Amino acid sequence: MSKASETRKRNAENKARMERVYAENEQIAARGICPDCGRKLRRNLSLTGWWQCSQLGAVGFRADASQPSCNFQMFTRA
Ligand SMILES: [Zn+2]
Repeated sequence: MSKASETRKRNAENKARMERVYAENEQIAARGICPDCGRKLRRNLSLTGWWQCSQLGAVGFRADASQPSCNFQMFTRA
């Protein structure tokens, strides 16, 4: 296989993988529930498509300071 066609194949595989990731993330966003801890998700408006668990972050940033933090975050296309 030529280098150019290897690159095209790899790019197509990467694109297909990202499409699957986005499709899965968009289902999670539609549910609005963190898959790791079951709390609500919220958008981080500083970047388009950025979603975070409402329990992400330090005390004062996460939704419930009495509960442990959760690191779940993901991106959707919009
Ligand atoms: Zn969570």
